[in-house]
Amino acid sequence: MASAEETHTAVEYDGVTKRFDADDGDVIAVDDLDIAVRDGEFLVLVGPSGCGKSTTLRLLAGLEEVSDGDVRISDTVVNEEKPKDRDIAMVFQNYALYPHKTVEENMRFGLEMATDLPDDEIGRRVEEAAGMLGITDLLDRRPDALSGGQKQRVALGRAIVREPEVFLMDEPLSNLDAKLRTEMRTELQQLHEQLGVATVYVTHDQTEAMTMGDRIAVLNDGQLQQLGTPLECYHEPENRFVAGFIGSPSMNFLDLSYDARSGVGTADGIEYAFTDRQQTRLGDHDRDVALGIRPEDVELAAESGPDTVEATVDVVEPMGRENLLHVTVGDTDVVASVSGEYDIEFGQRVRLRFPRDRTHAFDGDTGAAVFNRAVSTESLPEGVTL
Ligand code: ATP
Repeated sequence: MASAEETHTAVEYDGVTKRFDADDGDVIAVDDLDIAVRDGEFLVLVGPSGCGKSTTLRLLAGLEEVSDGDVRISDTVVNEEKPKDRDIAMVFQNYALYPHKTVEENMRFGLEMATDLPDDEIGRRVEEAAGMLGITDLLDRRPDALSGGQKQRVALGRAIVREPEVFLMDEPLSNLDAKLRTEMRTELQQLHEQLGVATVYVTHDQTEAMTMGDRIAVLNDGQLQQLGTPLECYHEPENRFVAGFIGSPSMNFLDLSYDARSGVGTADGIEYAFTDRQQTRLGDHDRDVALGIRPEDVELAAESGPDTVEATVDVVEPMGRENLLHVTVGDTDVVASVSGEYDIEFGQRVRLRFPRDRTHAFDGDTGAAVFNRAVSTESLPEGVTL
């Protein structure tokens, strides 16, 4: 990421809304979006299908017109600018290579059409990008003689030679098999480090978002749910949606009725006593809350206590390092990740602990976080921050 003194805003969405006229009425694909992407930053737009990620990217590319608000690139409003006049380069999921052109011609083409750069400069850029991507040996081939991963590299190369202010990437790895996707993820990160160009990257895959993003913008129903670092979104989700979307397997939620006098949340088969601090955050009134706990924070308990529940094991998924237990607590399904060394069978009754320093609570009506788990920074080595 760029250092503080050289940081400026590469891209800004300022109150951006996009409405489409659909046959069955207006669709608000993007709803009053505010996001500033810093210079050199890798920002991931993530969310479920239909949440407005692609539209958000297409508004930046100039492939859609904003209905309200401003899109800025390098502090200039670009609402009215044509895609070719915006200082961007886009990489799509389907590569969009010209089948009859060689790799080299594919990489040169955009520059030849959109710029009046001299031939030798174009050649230099293509050679450099091909070297960076390890595709120098493939420059004379046509796309149909390339593997999926190689095609994706050519598509990246074509974007790199533009030397744009911003890279726009729409699910660029989703056509690759799982192993290659993981490799390309690392390669893309290294490339980003090398080039230092701001990148807006769209994916529905929360693992990609977590592993690649300097920051993540989580969208749902066209609205920004949270903008933060991967660890902020993971440990300090602002609402139940983000808590459930980021992390795999997902956070467990238990819908409880909170009794303010006793400080206990109850549901069928559950009595969970909140700590004094948590009670202060929950307030003086009875309310509905969702207790949140991540699978890796659930523990098997030998004895019952204020933070334990009884459960029945429905399914055991042995993963080697861990066992994923799918259990029923009252009438709620809960997933617990416990040590792979335990030999647990389905149908077994177990006692689970939801350690109180690792639970979250979300408002039963709005889903807003009431409190998040404590993140310990005490034992961190020098120079490591959360
Ligand atoms: P996916 O991951 O499935 O690609 P997405 O998050 O990228 O989804 P968008 O493609 O941005 O979502 O779509 C957001 C919403 O806008 C959806 O409800 C979609 O149906 C609607 N939408 C997108 N384009 C149009 C259009 N041209 N006309 C009408 N509605 C549209």
